[in-house]
Amino acid sequence: MTAPLIDPFARPISYLRVSVTDRCDFRCVYCMAENMTFLPKKELLTLEELDRMCSTFIRLGVEKLRITGGEPLVRKGIMTFFEQMRRHLDSGALKELTLTTNGSQLRKFADQLADCGVRRINVSLDTLDDKKFADVTRWGKLAQVLDGIDAAQAAGLRVKLNAVALKGFNEDELFTLTEFCAARDMDLTWIEVMPMGDLGNEDRLDQYWPLSDLRKRLAERYTLTDLAERSGGPARYVRLEETGQKIGFITPLTHNFCESCNRVRLTCTGELYMCLGQEDMADLRAPLRASDSNDLLEDAIRAAIGRKPKGHDFDYSRQKVDGQMTRHMSHTGG
Ligand code: SAM
Ligand code: SF4
Repeated sequence: MTAPLIDPFARPISYLRVSVTDRCDFRCVYCMAENMTFLPKKELLTLEELDRMCSTFIRLGVEKLRITGGEPLVRKGIMTFFEQMRRHLDSGALKELTLTTNGSQLRKFADQLADCGVRRINVSLDTLDDKKFADVTRWGKLAQVLDGIDAAQAAGLRVKLNAVALKGFNEDELFTLTEFCAARDMDLTWIEVMPMGDLGNEDRLDQYWPLSDLRKRLAERYTLTDLAERSGGPARYVRLEETGQKIGFITPLTHNFCESCNRVRLTCTGELYMCLGQEDMADLRAPLRASDSNDLLEDAIRAAIGRKPKGHDFDYSRQKVDGQMTRHMSHTGG
């Protein structure tokens, strides 16, 4: 028997998020600069290497795999990777294979994703207004994403929307987005904007809309029942009694979830981040490429998990953004 991955604070690591590309067909203002320089191809893990990485983590006890990016569905050949991962679902070792996407390519890939055993997906969508969507994503088209959501639902995928809460931007769409999701039987999760990357003029404190305020406003119209459900991550859930839908709140800047943290993040170049809010990472690409056997890789993974920190350093409580990370969300995939 292979010993499972347990970190120094006795937290079992069962959830791996994998960024399969740093590229994207959008340029969301809180995520990327307009002129991004992307990595040369040789830096990226190949699809075969991604398979070896993920399969090794699964052998060590990872049961949930979330594929992200950049935009995961713009990675060339990514369906081959999904097809390969299906064997771990079939064997029962992997309980869930899922992805977070901006939705732009779902019309093309929804059926194939369903065939590969994907059951639920997260689609990121902050606004239902054409003009605002174009503004926030810079390059995106709302109609294409809505069509992608239709395709996903038609393929039998359960869709959850993720919206970044942005002050002065989508505050006025709190109820429109809630009703849009209720009408389509979709859950909705709000994410507090995080101080990631150095994006020049955009001041993240200006965009910060605390979810405590969002929740208060929601409670003025709906009856909120707290749900005990925990994802092992920074999300908390309520049910809206009037619609039956689940609303999530992701407040990564609080520490209230670190004690149950069950996840690590792999970048598209094979760096393993043990905590979203810390700079420490382990290079897994070197041990992977050093040998055809996975022994070195396994040792490197265990060593990395052995230094997973207790918690992160984000802090908005002072009037400056402390613990600001210099890497972009598109690097670790959120
Ligand atoms: N491209 C895919 C998408 O947009 O869903 C996957 C990658 S994206 C980096 C993952 C999530 O991170 C998205 O829901 C996005 O809205 C969120 N995100 C990006 N930058 C963020 C920031 N600065 N603060 C909070 N969430 C952010
Ligand atoms: Fe692309 Fe997703 Fe970042 Fe938007 S949030 S730029 S869709 S990676």
